[in-house]
Amino acid sequence: MNPSNQNLYARFHTAFAPTLERVAIETDHGDQYTFGDLDQHTARMANWLQSLGLQSGDRVMVQVEKSVPALLFYLACLRTGVVYVPLNTAYQAAELTYFIENAEPSVFVCDPARESDLLALTQRLGVAHLATLDATGKGSLMDAALTQAPQQTIQPMQSDELAAILYTSGTTGRSKGAQLTHGNLASNAQTLLSYWDWQNVDVLIHALPIFHVHGLFVAVHCALLNASKMLWMGKFNPQQVLDWLPQATVFMGVPTLYVRLLQEKTLDAAVCSHMRLFISGSAPLLTETFEAWQARTDHTILERYGMSETAMLTSNPCRAEEGPRKGGTVGRPLPDVQLRCVDEHDAPRAQGDVGAIQVKGPNVFPGYWRMPEANAKEFTADGWFRTGDVGRIDVDGYVTIVGRSKDLIITGGYNVYPAEVEGFINDMAGVDESAVIGCPHRDFGEGVVAVVVAKPGVTLDPSELSQQLKGQIAGFKVPKHFFVVTELPRNVMGKVQKNLLRQTYEKVFEGA
Ligand code: AMP
Repeated sequence: MNPSNQNLYARFHTAFAPTLERVAIETDHGDQYTFGDLDQHTARMANWLQSLGLQSGDRVMVQVEKSVPALLFYLACLRTGVVYVPLNTAYQAAELTYFIENAEPSVFVCDPARESDLLALTQRLGVAHLATLDATGKGSLMDAALTQAPQQTIQPMQSDELAAILYTSGTTGRSKGAQLTHGNLASNAQTLLSYWDWQNVDVLIHALPIFHVHGLFVAVHCALLNASKMLWMGKFNPQQVLDWLPQATVFMGVPTLYVRLLQEKTLDAAVCSHMRLFISGSAPLLTETFEAWQARTDHTILERYGMSETAMLTSNPCRAEEGPRKGGTVGRPLPDVQLRCVDEHDAPRAQGDVGAIQVKGPNVFPGYWRMPEANAKEFTADGWFRTGDVGRIDVDGYVTIVGRSKDLIITGGYNVYPAEVEGFINDMAGVDESAVIGCPHRDFGEGVVAVVVAKPGVTLDPSELSQQLKGQIAGFKVPKHFFVVTELPRNVMGKVQKNLLRQTYEKVFEGA
């Protein structure tokens, strides 16, 4: 192996090469792959990509169901030095047209069921090769890979060369392609490995989708860099998680997975006694969930914060000597990450004051794919990336996210941070969860609106909620309307889609 090769796959290979016969992945269908199998399959797929004439820097776009072969194909792309571009399986033809035109991939991999629909589209847009892969790993990609040799020389890469492009969820305007380099991903994985104290004996339950930073980078990279076994689930299944807990040590989930697991009657401290670490991220973890988990399992969830553009930025401590895990916070900046909260002139706010979060570090992406205007806007002249999140840093250095800057409500000239109001509403008797949004208002610019979900069997009275809140927070923060709904719209990563709520309620103040 070339010791100066900065290819991320080369790092994984160095980690697992001494243990090729050990099981790397065991699936919920009982399939097993050793590290040797993983290395051989990825070599075959890499050879196939090279046989098509692909070179480092070429893009490969993938829209398939989660499966081990889909993961192996990601690793094969790393090996070959081509840029992996995963897409959410929910995207339809109009969205795919945009992504293909923007990224200009040489290869597109889809589910066999969509092949005939996508053939004309990909041909029209100049994609040279269309291949298929289904949820069980069958398809033309696998057929072609199996004709190739199981050895391959890992492509030498520099740390600033691209490994992947992740399209942001694009809740406002067009989705942007966040470019991640081999160096970005390697440095973040290495930092997490040591900060989260990964051990030889660690076994990870992999329950997340693999088209997103959480499941694809955080979970997979930590496990591979530590040569740890992954217990691999195609789709999240709470009972399967419970069955695996006694042989696992690490679980990573979005908050909704924790909520779903808490609904399982058999979840208790005994079933979690073999576990070392429960990690949550990608969306805010409610204090109620954090506390309920502690009470039921004797484990304190470690909440961390990151995004597609930067991978992980902050984390609550893993080791007790580094401090407590504080619920409602996302912990401190990771060792090599700089994070600050600033005002509208990019000047740092006083400690404890709310401001826009900006970050710097070896994990921060070099910019969006082919979007010079966005890059000029999203980075300061001295290289800080504007995350779009708003937060504050407490006296111990812990960060609290109060919302996205685009979700900030300005009503009659006053700033209202939705997360603060949601916190008060969520603490009220009978409330399960809530989302606070701003809707157009002729006098105030925006008016505050709350969308609330009741606990099962409870009937909430909106005027009662409003009355209770008036005694607790300033009048301008109290929502002028409360809507009680059965559930909040969420995307697959558990994030509440406030853009959809704003659309639904955009006319509530008409005539006000
Ligand atoms: P994505 O790029 O899809 O991972 O989305 C990143 C965004 O998710 C961040 O900019 C935050 O707004 C949000 N996010 C991620 N982790 C957390 C967390 N632990 N608490 C609150 N928001 C989070």
